[in-house]
Amino acid sequence: AQQRYASIRDTKCVSEDGQRIELMMNAGLMADLPSLPTSGAEGVGLFRTELQFLTRNKVPRRGELATLYSGVIDAAQGLPVVFRTLDIGSDKVLPYMKAQDEPNPALGWRAIRVGLDKPGVMRMQLQALLRAHDGRDMNIMFPFIAQMEEFLEARAHLTRELHREASLGHKLPGTLRIGAMLETPSLAFAPRRFFEEADFISIGGNDLKQFFFAADRENERVRRRYDTLNVSFLSLIEKIVTRCTQSDTHVSFCGEDAGRPVEALCFAAMGLRCLSMRPASIGPVKNILLKADLGEVRRVIEAARDAGDQSVRPAVMEYLRRR
Ligand code: PEP
Ligand code: MG
Repeated sequence: AQQRYASIRDTKCVSEDGQRIELMMNAGLMADLPSLPTSGAEGVGLFRTELQFLTRNKVPRRGELATLYSGVIDAAQGLPVVFRTLDIGSDKVLPYMKAQDEPNPALGWRAIRVGLDKPGVMRMQLQALLRAHDGRDMNIMFPFIAQMEEFLEARAHLTRELHREASLGHKLPGTLRIGAMLETPSLAFAPRRFFEEADFISIGGNDLKQFFFAADRENERVRRRYDTLNVSFLSLIEKIVTRCTQSDTHVSFCGEDAGRPVEALCFAAMGLRCLSMRPASIGPVKNILLKADLGEVRRVIEAARDAGDQSVRPAVMEYLRRR
């Protein structure tokens, strides 16, 4: 599939009506990094850090993680890498962590909630990340933030580790950008200060959609009822983009839907200018965006919304067929 899009691999993604869209890739293993140059991605928009924790029988050591993260940054050859701190619980249960007896693990003690309540492992990971960067630019985001305070608290842990590293004589990152994943509808309505404080926001559409429609992302039967291009969900995306624009906060979308061409097209039409996806999706998504008139797609979406459609998909598909 990558072969098919080889001719546009090095082409910057600019829509026909002149909108620049950054296309990044998702990764979670060192073995994913060779896809960076071959896919034409402009960086790693989401590096999931769970796998190294899930495939061991005990918590990995700080030095081991620092070496791995450093290798990832080396392999990116100067392109940005956004590391996400540990997102465990729910569907990602550590074999050596005492299983929580929770009736609804997806709504339970997971991700940043674990990191804030029992900060030992998160702080070790933050140290590993700081050491791995060794003077290079660092981008880090915290998963599953549901309210402003959680972001501020997580950032305070990072600041503390930063001072500790400095006092130990370690090199600090050149620049440090600290972001939040927006994966719960509540965060879209957080105080304005949240959007001002965050250096960037990354929309975790897989979880955001599951919580927005109250439909388990793992349960095919209910998941399929709700289209990502449902006007309600697109309106939420629009709201998030507007709030980020008002505070001049960089916003991206890193859920699976970013890698589906028609979804990506609609997200771009709603104002998203950065999408992160699996490497094999970069070609097909770039292909549709290069030929797109985003202003026109936006008008199609708005007309469908005004007409009372439940999903804008039929209208957008019809528009693409006519074009
Ligand atoms: C998401 O929820 O959209 C996301 C990118 O994170 P994950 O799929 O790892 O939960
Ligand atoms: Mg998620």
